[in-house]
Amino acid sequence: MGPGPINAHPRVLRAMSADLLGQFDPEMTGYMNQVMALYRPIFGTENRWTMLIDGTARSAIEASLISLAQPGDTVLVINFGRFGLLLTEILERIGARIETVDAPWGEIVPTDRVAEAIRRVKPKVVATVHGDTSTTMAQPLEGLGGLCREVGAFSYVDATATLGGMPIETDRWGIDIVTAGLQKCLGGPSGSAPITISDRAAEHIFTRRHVEKGIRRDDIADGSGPRIASNYFDLAMIMDYWSEKRLNHHTEATTMLYGARECARVALGEGLEARFARHASAGAAMEAGLAALGLAIFGGTENRMTNVTGAWIPEGVDGEAVRAAMRDHFEIEIGTAFGPLAGRIWRFGAMGYNARKDTILTTLAALEACLAMNGFAVTRGEAVPAALAAWEARA
Ligand SMILES: *Cc1c(COP(=O)(O)O)cnc(C)c1O
Repeated sequence: MGPGPINAHPRVLRAMSADLLGQFDPEMTGYMNQVMALYRPIFGTENRWTMLIDGTARSAIEASLISLAQPGDTVLVINFGRFGLLLTEILERIGARIETVDAPWGEIVPTDRVAEAIRRVKPKVVATVHGDTSTTMAQPLEGLGGLCREVGAFSYVDATATLGGMPIETDRWGIDIVTAGLQKCLGGPSGSAPITISDRAAEHIFTRRHVEKGIRRDDIADGSGPRIASNYFDLAMIMDYWSEKRLNHHTEATTMLYGARECARVALGEGLEARFARHASAGAAMEAGLAALGLAIFGGTENRMTNVTGAWIPEGVDGEAVRAAMRDHFEIEIGTAFGPLAGRIWRFGAMGYNARKDTILTTLAALEACLAMNGFAVTRGEAVPAALAAWEARA
């Protein structure tokens, strides 16, 4: 019950126990095409290039940034937490010129400050996180694509922590590349990273294609910019593999693809609206229960993620001792925190398969016991009813 990874949905685990297929087997390429179709509604897009990067969420972040930005390009990062810092760290390695527009941890960057920064900096790329699990905040993205297009910039969004749990409207927001992972609200294991790429971004990437000697001479682009400095993360090559050309790149991670496909089937089977509502109920129940225990909730009340809730560790309570007790006595993992919040807040996730009434109630009951064991004057017997009432009020 931390901010991810979470327990995988049993159907996802079962799908992943199926036998392997060759990467060009028609059954396998059929599944690849299904994955493309299944993830389009999940990303809220009609983008042709909607597929998987083989690796954890970070692999798709790196593939996107290295494909959009070249050394010396100016990139504006909307930074409000640990994963915003990850974007800048990757961009530094690329050799981009980085500008940031920042918010303190626990807040988002207001849209007027984002607009002002984009118009002032006129970057080649604007990169941001949607839900930053490190701070439990979700950056509003309405209108971001339009602002980027005004200055001819590409837009990139890391939606790892929110895809499948909060609405993502890639096309309506006008975002060029959105990426995710399975181990948060999609209810799968880490190791596969869904990605969607606009036609406009794909065109830019194809002109930067890496040429593999002897294999793809007919594909040599004329007048292209510097090659993408990675073979594994060369999105042009990965798109060619996912296209009907089926040009060999990596060996698609069969088992992860089965898992990613089943995550999407489970999500669409439930219905996205119902799924978002379930995450919102779970978040509201968790928050009500934590408050009833006597804990103060972290972060601004607006723009908080529905699927992860932070609570201040009370004065005099050893946060790590409580986490250890939760794990040792109840087999429940809750989250610690990073950077300026390390040792100051706990983070409670309610994501994917774990965003359920029973998991929230047992977590709160266990936490009550562990807080009492660790010397906190906890309010007894109120957290579970408060959480239940908050859940029922939305049901
Ligand atoms: C969890 C998370 C990641 C993690 O990436 P992995 O490579 O899968 O560990 C990236 N971005 C955000 C916003 C996250 O919440």
